[in-house]
Order: sequence, then C-alpha cells, then structure tokens
Amino acid sequence: MNRLSGHEDCGIAIGISNEPTFGKGILNDYGYWQFPCEKCAREWEKQNPNSGKAWPSSNEDAEHEKYKKRQRELYHKKREELIEDEVKEEIDEDDVEEISQFA
Ligand SMILES: [Zn+2]
Repeated sequence: MNRLSGHEDCGIAIGISNEPTFGKGILNDYGYWQFPCEKCAREWEKQNPNSGKAWPSSNEDAEHEKYKKRQRELYHKKREELIEDEVKEEIDEDDVEEISQFA
C-alpha cells in the first residue's frame, strides 16, 4: 500500500529492470501490475527526483517507446522479407539441382 496519490488500493513493487512499479490487480512474476497507475508513478518520480523513472512510463516516454517499437518492427519486417527472399532463392536453386539430377 502507498498513499502517494491518495490511492490506498495502489501497490508498489519492483520491476524486472529494477524500477519501482505502481498499480493494482494481479502482480506478475516480473513485478508489473495488471492495472498500472501512472498517477502514482509520476508522484513517486516527483518525490524521488534522483531515483530514475517509475513504471508505468509517462505518456511522453510511452509515445517515444511506441515510436521505437514501431521502428524496431519495421526493421524486423524488412529483415524478414530479405531473409525470405534469400530462402526462396535457395529453394529455387535446390529445385533446379534436383531436377537436373533426375534428368
Ligand atoms: Zn495509484
């Protein structure tokens, strides 16, 4: 229990990246809450300005995370396409070889 935002039912735990996490509901094995509470997280950051970020991230950070995630997805998608093309080429070559063996 913590009373940072007057949220008596919000809990605090430590996330897998060693950051404090705020919220309620079920706490998973990694220390994250089913229902994150941004208000408590921001209040904690205000009260502990030298202790880094709390979870859930602020909207600004979350937007930035979303952007980074999107970039990563695009990168992986592009990479998969390239690998797929390579695999297709390999299969084509093998097919040609097999056909020539039986010819
Ligand atoms: Zn709260």
